[in-house]
Amino acid sequence: MHLKKRIIVTGGAGFLGSHLCEFLLCAGNEVLCVDNFFTGSKMTVEHLLDNPNFDVIRHDITFPLYLEADEIYNLACPASPIHYQNDPVQTTKVCVHGSINMLGLAKRLRAKIMQASTSEVYGDPAIHPQPESYRGDVNPIGPRSCYDEGKRCAETLFFDYHRQHNLQIKVARIFNTYGPRMHPNDGRVVSNFICQALRGDPITVYGDGSQTRSFCYVDDMIAGFIKLMHSRDGFIGPVNLGNPGEYSILQIAETVRELIGASVEIVFKELPQDDPRRRQPDISLAKQELDWEPTVPLREGLEKTIAYFDDFLTSLKQANEK
Ligand code: NAD
Ligand code: UDP
Ligand code: UDP
Repeated sequence: MHLKKRIIVTGGAGFLGSHLCEFLLCAGNEVLCVDNFFTGSKMTVEHLLDNPNFDVIRHDITFPLYLEADEIYNLACPASPIHYQNDPVQTTKVCVHGSINMLGLAKRLRAKIMQASTSEVYGDPAIHPQPESYRGDVNPIGPRSCYDEGKRCAETLFFDYHRQHNLQIKVARIFNTYGPRMHPNDGRVVSNFICQALRGDPITVYGDGSQTRSFCYVDDMIAGFIKLMHSRDGFIGPVNLGNPGEYSILQIAETVRELIGASVEIVFKELPQDDPRRRQPDISLAKQELDWEPTVPLREGLEKTIAYFDDFLTSLKQANEK
């Protein structure tokens, strides 16, 4: 018999969280979305609100939370550079105090808890592609540090709760992920380029565009979360989740422009401080332990994301004209 689980998703109203809530509900679980709407919005989960197995709780996880659940996915944290640098002290608090509270909650409930960590723990990597054993090259005092060091400390807390309290933990190091329901204004590269091209504005490439990233489509990432949460007891990670296909930012700009068929210019702007030069996951561990690898090619994922933003921008325009 399939027993319905009660699952908490912190940051459930964000980009990844909303897809995760949807997946977990479809699989027949009860889902508690805990979010303070710092970067997320009720709109991302609006279509789930009628489901009797779904609840949204407005709460900031830097404060204690007393609920009952069987599993916790800890995704709450602003994720784009402009959002996490907007209130850097709060970003560190979400990573550190937020993780302590969610770990305290998991400890009281003896619940399994997964942390959404990040490829940013590798900083500007000296090893390429990055395996989990690489310890990273992170600036502790730069504008990205609140996020990079915050997430590193969160990993430390997860491992200490595991060693000290025998907590069941899982840690995912997530590489750049894109797809429908990304925020149009959070400055991330895929959403920026698509919205710019759809609006007929120039595409803004920072630096000369030779820096690289590896982009994973959201459905593949959610499948990775689920496989990690259900992996064998002895496996806790950290495990890289991402698509190893590596592209320069200029290639992304050109591909988006071509797929949209827009005759917009590509303009070059200043490269932000500490912008990592390259990033590509080594996913051997995920393949071996989780039998997971991404299946959606970049162009297909971009087409789906473009279709989403096309609808989104059209409805926004219609609403503004009313
Ligand atoms: P997002 O900004 O869309 O979602 C984050 C959610 O957390 C938002 O709904 C926000 O309101 C909520 N939140 C922020 N602070 C909170 C707090 N104090 N209490 C409760 N809720 C809070 O970002 P996302 O892209 O969905 O990222 C989700 C998680 O995955 C984050 O932890 C992020 O660090 C991690 N991650 C994402 C990516 C990516 O490419 N999307 C890459 C690496 C890691
Ligand atoms: N906590 C929570 N919900 C719970 C249990 C704990 O939010 O159901 C918080 C609590 O505020 C505490 C933190 O988690 O500060 C860490 O809990 P832990 O039991 O590890 O530490 P302690 O309470 O002993 O400081
Ligand atoms: N970027 C860009 N133009 C934009 C937004 C971002 O050239 O309009 C670059 C950015 O400098 C970085 C890459 O794209 O090199 C990915 O940026 P994003 O903020 O999406 O993710 P992160 O830097 O956190 O990997």
